Amino acid sequence: MAFEINEACGIFGIYTREDDVAKLTYYALYALQHRGQESAGIAVSDGRESLMLKDMGMVSQVFSERDLNNLKGHMAIGHVRYSTTGSSFWENAQPVQVPRRRGSVFVAHNGNLINTVELREKLQAEGVRFRSTSDTEVIAVMLARSPAEDMAEAVKEVMPRLVGAYSLAILTESCLIGLRDPYGIRPLCVGSYRDGYALASESSGLDIIGAEYMREIDPGEMVVIDEDGLRCERFMDRRKSSLCIFEFIYFARPDSIMYDTYLYHARKHMGMSLADEAPVDADVVMPIPDTGVPAAIGYSQASGIPFGEGLIKNRYIGRTFIQPTQAIRRLGVRLKLNPLVGDIKGKRLVVVDDSIVRGNTTREIVRMLRDAGAREVHMRISSPPDMYPCFYGIDTAVRKELIASTRSVEEIREFIGADTLHYLSMENMVRATRRPREDFCLACFDGDYPIPVPEDVKMAKCRLETERVGTERE
Ligand code: SF4
Repeated sequence: MAFEINEACGIFGIYTREDDVAKLTYYALYALQHRGQESAGIAVSDGRESLMLKDMGMVSQVFSERDLNNLKGHMAIGHVRYSTTGSSFWENAQPVQVPRRRGSVFVAHNGNLINTVELREKLQAEGVRFRSTSDTEVIAVMLARSPAEDMAEAVKEVMPRLVGAYSLAILTESCLIGLRDPYGIRPLCVGSYRDGYALASESSGLDIIGAEYMREIDPGEMVVIDEDGLRCERFMDRRKSSLCIFEFIYFARPDSIMYDTYLYHARKHMGMSLADEAPVDADVVMPIPDTGVPAAIGYSQASGIPFGEGLIKNRYIGRTFIQPTQAIRRLGVRLKLNPLVGDIKGKRLVVVDDSIVRGNTTREIVRMLRDAGAREVHMRISSPPDMYPCFYGIDTAVRKELIASTRSVEEIREFIGADTLHYLSMENMVRATRRPREDFCLACFDGDYPIPVPEDVKMAKCRLETERVGTERE
């Protein structure tokens, strides 16, 4: 259920002397807003001086026209954040700036380090005082303290000491660097823009400014952009390509390209396979908007059952910073979705969604559809049961909260109150991507983490999450 999983950051970078880099970054962050709505930031440099503006809130809330006019330069990086490591406060917003011998280094990060505590303690023992609790500051401090001559050399010196998932956009007064960890867990692509280049978490972040998509950055590769143009260097050997499968299922926009495939097409194929695996007599196929739409279209086309919209999303509810009252909180999923009663009443529905995390939201939706008069509700999920938590930068839930880790499919069906429930098989989910299974991290489904996660890290996440959920419930 898309509402139950929070993405964890979108990053962008640009180098051009022919246009206003702050405004281009602003628009690109707009296109990446779905990856994080908690804070937004832009850092620019004109080669001598650098400036940064960041704050809590969505892109449209953080920047005014005047702010953007003041951010002058020919290179920039930008970031939208949803917190995974570190809490939700200003110091954890990104980019993170750390002074170095000459100038500053700015870092925008998508991912999550597994060895943050160890790296942080070592730096603290050397006298470093951190301003935030994020792992991004640890990376920025390490880059700033590196004895290497330039930033590309600093990357080669520092990155082998990091363990975990990281796609980074790095800005100094002399260059822009984009890189992905040696497992390529989080996405990052590069494109050309007029006289220069741009980097983005997703190709749709390039499309919006008219940049031309070139390719994905390879795991373990960095792209250095400066006055001499673009050069690609390897800072570590590629271990394997383990792109997060959730990018294909739900995280990334359907109009983004990953592994040379439009995600829209992959999702539609997932829906077609769902129809083959779990056919049912019904009157209408209905998505949970927006992320269930391509799979529902696929289900409809393969089954011949008409596609219809029965739930309308309150598009701009997003992440509001106004605390709801108890009475408003009780509205639950109604804040986000509203049923078209006339299109639901008396109908047998196939309802297509991307995943079920805790199950509570799906249960509320099924109840809402039944209240609206649905005769039958058949849930179809375009991914396998989600049983294991993420340690690489996605805020899902701890294991005991994932409903599929403790209940069978039949028990989940009973819990959510659907007439039938079917999850797409792993085999058909992967087939829809047109890439081999080895090219993905599938750990949420099979528990096989490409970068081993030590027990103490698992325990720490469990503790933190339990505290967070406890606070939210209070
Ligand atoms: S553990 Fe799950 S959410 Fe995290 S990278 Fe792997 S598949 Fe994606």
